[in-house]
Amino acid sequence: MPVNILSVRNLCINYNSLEALNVLSFDVEKADYVGLVGPNGSGKTTLVKAILGLVRPSGGAMTLFGQPMPEFRDWYKVGYLPQKMHSFNPHFPSTVREVVALGLISRKKFPRRLDKSDETAITRMLEMLNIAHIANKLIGELSGGQLQKVFIARALINEPELIILDEPTTALDPETRENFFSLMRELNLKQRATIILVTHDIGTIGEHASKLLYLDKKIIFYGSFDEFCVSDSMSKYFGRSSQHIICHKH
Ligand code: ADP
Repeated sequence: MPVNILSVRNLCINYNSLEALNVLSFDVEKADYVGLVGPNGSGKTTLVKAILGLVRPSGGAMTLFGQPMPEFRDWYKVGYLPQKMHSFNPHFPSTVREVVALGLISRKKFPRRLDKSDETAITRMLEMLNIAHIANKLIGELSGGQLQKVFIARALINEPELIILDEPTTALDPETRENFFSLMRELNLKQRATIILVTHDIGTIGEHASKLLYLDKKIIFYGSFDEFCVSDSMSKYFGRSSQHIICHKH
């Protein structure tokens, strides 16, 4: 039996008179790797915010890990990497290692101390993301790309069961981008982490994700890339050539 991680039923979200999401219904099952794609203004960020409980639906219902949304409290199970760190203070006097450690500490009970295996996990994560050499630098001294890696490390160090990433690779160099995607693959295949990845990069998401959620205020398509590839309605919607660029199988 597939396990539902996220269940969305008839979700509607309005900003005043603007309809951002219009009657969305879909399920994300354990170990799904969903590419969330759609044009600018199609409601991707709004959907992510709704899943995180940051915007209030105007209609419909959602469950996360089987719990109805407003009551959901197990946020340690969810790792989120926002597109932009609006609330982040670059003058906060912490090192890279300390910021990543915060991701682990939030889950611990008192006394909140890191043990040897935590330290090993942090070192491994820094190495995966090519930032081990700057572990002791203050975060205020980092470039945008380095900072992005620190936040990826902090979001993933906790081994969340659901990982939500909003355009995570925009500031990354090609090598780190590769490492990032192989880390995602490992978490998805070995630890059966569920991933929702928001991207503009519709031409390459088929290399990584197992399902496509194509949004344009409503759901245009939700299913596997194989289903997308043979869907007549998607041929009509995108044209056959774009359809196969998206499905990435041939
Ligand atoms: P995407 O992430 O796909 O670009 P968004 O979810 O950011 O789309 O936006 C969907 C629509 O909602 C857009 O028309 C956008 O202008 C509007 N919108 C987003 N956030 C707000 C807000 N806080 N207040 C009013 N309108 C908003």
